[in-house]
Amino acid sequence: MLAHRLSTILPHLEFEEALQTTKVYSVAGLVPEKHSLICQRPFRAPHHTISDVGLIGGGTVPKPGEISLAHNGVLFLDEMPEFKKNVLEVLRQPLEGGAVTITRSMTSVSYPAEIMLVAAMNPCPCGFLGDPKHDCRCTLGEIQRYRARLSGPLLDRIDLHVEVPAVRYKDLSDTRRGEASEAVRQRVEQARERQHARFTGEFNGIRCNAQMQPKHLRAFCQVGAEGGRLLEMVVDRLGMSARAYDRILKVARTIADLDDSDAIQPVHLSEAIQYRTLDRAMH
Ligand SMILES: [Zn+2]
Repeated sequence: MLAHRLSTILPHLEFEEALQTTKVYSVAGLVPEKHSLICQRPFRAPHHTISDVGLIGGGTVPKPGEISLAHNGVLFLDEMPEFKKNVLEVLRQPLEGGAVTITRSMTSVSYPAEIMLVAAMNPCPCGFLGDPKHDCRCTLGEIQRYRARLSGPLLDRIDLHVEVPAVRYKDLSDTRRGEASEAVRQRVEQARERQHARFTGEFNGIRCNAQMQPKHLRAFCQVGAEGGRLLEMVVDRLGMSARAYDRILKVARTIADLDDSDAIQPVHLSEAIQYRTLDRAMH
């Protein structure tokens, strides 16, 4: 439900993006009749029994997989640890590069795969760990094996880890409305505009913070002395990988953009650090 609503707060699809996404659907033979152009960000939620070919693409005549069908949109993996390990691991390359290359003996095909990956998992196999109302009956070994199905390198590539407590019936049936998606989308679009302005010129081709490479991090993600000390402490304590470190900087940059701030302040950094709960749980 939450994941499905995500596309309503993402920026509207730009014309160029709509063309790219339509092209992928066209190759896959999935352009709906009467719709010459796909104008909505795609939302794909494959079942955990999917094969690596189904997810990444392939076949005798290489077709795009779910990850490319989600290009410029959201790929949602519910119950992530239930996916086959080899299937999850093939996600690593496209998550890093934004594209999938399928190689056959005679040819190689590349499909775009710039996606927002959203995944959900339980805290333990029975799902009740940390629940105040139910007892978790899993052993420590079972919990560790369950979590170990997600490799460190895969977790490194996921920017935000957020714990969501079980929703109480009272809240579910609450008819008061929260903030409207359109208002949130406006904030997201403003933050995107800041980013666009930052990269225009010298760094044309980069549209948002997620696409920053190390040289951009050096240019745009200075954290100051206090921020530096904070990061040093976290890296020492968590033994964080260089990749996770870069992710924190990018997320902090985005939080600062949402806050309309040119500088990354310590408060932006500490919020970004909070979103690495699974790194903490693994240590
Ligand atoms: Zn349990």
